[in-house]
Amino acid sequence: MEIFASPVSQIDRQSTQPVAIGPDVIVGAEAVVLMAGPCSVESYEQTRAVAEAIHRVGGRVLRGGAFKPRTSPDSFSGLGLEGLKILRAVADEFGLLVITEALGVEYIPLVAEYADVIQIGSRNMQHFPLLWAVGETDKPVLLKRGFMATIEEWLMAAEHIARRGNEQIILCERGIRGFDPSTRNVLDTTAIALIKQLSAYPVIGDPSHATGRADLVIPAARACVAAGADGLLVEFHPHPLEALSDAEQALPLDALPQLVDEVGRIAAAMRRRLT
Ligand code: PEP
Ligand code: MN
Repeated sequence: MEIFASPVSQIDRQSTQPVAIGPDVIVGAEAVVLMAGPCSVESYEQTRAVAEAIHRVGGRVLRGGAFKPRTSPDSFSGLGLEGLKILRAVADEFGLLVITEALGVEYIPLVAEYADVIQIGSRNMQHFPLLWAVGETDKPVLLKRGFMATIEEWLMAAEHIARRGNEQIILCERGIRGFDPSTRNVLDTTAIALIKQLSAYPVIGDPSHATGRADLVIPAARACVAAGADGLLVEFHPHPLEALSDAEQALPLDALPQLVDEVGRIAAAMRRRLT
């Protein structure tokens, strides 16, 4: 029993500065916060089905993309403003918070109007004017790790936000590029553990983009929480094979209770709980 209460883990936990993303949802405190949703908001019905499933397992945060950064200009790039409106409407229906990405400085006012947390995507981790601009908002920021960024570069990017006055920063490990095409990226769980030592910002794990494979998402989610993650970002779709983006990594809605059960057990072992 002593091992769970080791001085090291206590110091690590205490040194994290919690970020309140809503009146009663705090990232970086005792609870491990689940942020779930579709990669892209595709329709009201699709997003509502995911939100309802999140609500049913006690989840508090809906994450979905309205403006999508896509590798190919021919790929679906999101519903834009309509997507933001859908996110807000279904989140309000189920009492959830909204997190969504701002692709550039010009998107911030709109995203801030509809969302509770502004996401900065992996491709934009060193988009400095964007970092400065979110640093001047009063919204919590989810800063995803660049897929080829070192931990130091990632923490420096966070510092660019903080220097503008906004210290409500949540870091997100979403996998880094490796040599092996077996998985989309390489989940760097060591980074999660190291961030707990190096930084006061909470850190969450994104097993969906890290693995790119639905069959690996739950094991990777367990690993994130075991490494000390303060939350998870996981992609779901009511009909994964039909998803307009990231179909290979989307979990079906009936996997949500399994995820909550298995990750909840790991959280309990870490003397935390999943919300
Ligand atoms: C996303 O979270 O939807 C996304 C595009 O991820 P990333 O920026 O990590 O690639
Ligand atoms: Mn995605």
